Amino acid sequence: MSRTVIPTAQDLGQQAFEAARRCGVDVAAVAGDAAHRSPVNGRSLGGVRWDASSAVDEAVARAQVAYRQWRSVPAPARGAVVKRLGELLAEHKEDLAALVSYEVGKITSEALGEVQEMIDICDFALGLSRQLYGRTSVSERPGHRLMETWHPLGVVGVISAFNFPVAVWSWNTAIALVCGDTVVWKPSEQAPLCAWASAGLLRRALEECGAPVDVSQVVVGGPDVGEALVDHPGVALVSATGSTRMGRSVGPRVANRFGRSLLELGGNNAAIVAPSADLDLTLRGIVFSAAGTAGQRCTTMRRVIMHTSVAQELTERLVEAYGRLPIGNPMTQGTLVGPLIHQQAHDAMRAALAKAAEQGGSLVAGGERVLAEAAPDAFYVQPAIVTMPGQSDIVRAETFAPLLYVMTYDDFDEAIALNNDVPQGLSSSLFTRDQAEAEVFVSADGSDCGIVNVNIGTSGAEIGGAFGGEKETGGGRESGSDAWRAYMRRATNTVNYSGELPLAQGVDFSV
Ligand code: NAD
Repeated sequence: MSRTVIPTAQDLGQQAFEAARRCGVDVAAVAGDAAHRSPVNGRSLGGVRWDASSAVDEAVARAQVAYRQWRSVPAPARGAVVKRLGELLAEHKEDLAALVSYEVGKITSEALGEVQEMIDICDFALGLSRQLYGRTSVSERPGHRLMETWHPLGVVGVISAFNFPVAVWSWNTAIALVCGDTVVWKPSEQAPLCAWASAGLLRRALEECGAPVDVSQVVVGGPDVGEALVDHPGVALVSATGSTRMGRSVGPRVANRFGRSLLELGGNNAAIVAPSADLDLTLRGIVFSAAGTAGQRCTTMRRVIMHTSVAQELTERLVEAYGRLPIGNPMTQGTLVGPLIHQQAHDAMRAALAKAAEQGGSLVAGGERVLAEAAPDAFYVQPAIVTMPGQSDIVRAETFAPLLYVMTYDDFDEAIALNNDVPQGLSSSLFTRDQAEAEVFVSADGSDCGIVNVNIGTSGAEIGGAFGGEKETGGGRESGSDAWRAYMRRATNTVNYSGELPLAQGVDFSV
């Protein structure tokens, strides 16, 4: 383990509020009584202001008024605002990345990567602002034209999780804004400064472009604030990212009022390692996906299904690589594994390790808390590897920590069955040099996940693809490809220029 120095509470708090101020946050206005701890040292960053759930009504009302103006601004002009946001994000990349590290403990390289993802989605959305295409179809009737037009939807409510405290907002907001929607954001309670800073940069972009600043709203608070947003009849789409437990509450509540929801929930992502796999590449792919972000990505690799012929060598190499992982202050150069978000995450990891042992597992690497003396209020752990005799209950559950289960297979169909035999369906990988296996894995007979990769780990998606997963992952798709359609409503138009009124399907209704 590398030597690491954990920063003091005072240093971090000051730096965090300074970074937020540079991003346009009125730091006096956001200070308050709500406790706000950094996972880096477990100490207070300085109290912040939480909104009451009634603030949701006011935010939605403002967003509704702004929507009436915004929806008829030409999409390329809306794109210009998002372009400016991307420029401001590039200018303040270090500030925002530092806030991500302070508030959720990401290592600097990943925090910068998260902000880069925001810049990338702004680029994508700018291009999209000139490509909101609808189809034209042939009519069965002479002198008729059939076409579809896409219109803005209204107010989009965004609920985000702690582990991507800024990127998830940008995926939703950059796309929603070019689509003509307005956004009310309920960020993770762990990352309010990230939220105010991101919104501060957007506000500046809106002001500079002469656009209505109320298209973007932020309401900070706990699940009660999220629930108020979910239940609000003025919110046309609720895009909610977080645990399956949260989605199980949000989905039916939104459906009950006939709203739309886009759910991005938990994952339980596996890699299959075939006998022909390039083990050097596989090793790197697994270690990044399983131990990176301290195991706190929705796409974190949680299971490896290895062919018996490579299991011993690969497990030994994984254990050796895990022993070399530099753990500590996420802002220290060279650190690869930062802290867990809070004590409950650590408790959940300990509980999962205990259950895995009861269910026949053997701990072969890590699992213990580290740096407890240097940071008694923070929770750093040595990423764990547990070999399992099969896919027991604990393996089928998502534990949001760096805990990797290793299992073996003999037959490729059995490996695919294991990959699919979990309630979640987010991301999956196959490491192989066998073209036929790769084709099967990405075919209808292969992985049942929303993300299906070959010779690359389960995490680290690019913004150009549609992101999301099946089953308990919620079915939503965000970010690239045609995910924008979820943020718009489709109208089918039949235009009759024939001067006659022929009815479809040959119906005769002459009077
Ligand atoms: P969480 O479910 O505890 O909280 C997520 C957000 O939902 C927070 O803003 C929270 O305040 C809000 N919330 C909680 N209960 C709510 C309710 N009943 N109604 C409305 N809002 C509610 O999740 P977390 O601990 O912040 O994040 C970790 C989880 O998020 C993991 O399960 C991870 O897999 C998942 N996640 C999924 C994706 C994805 O794209 N699929 C991305 C990131 C994280």
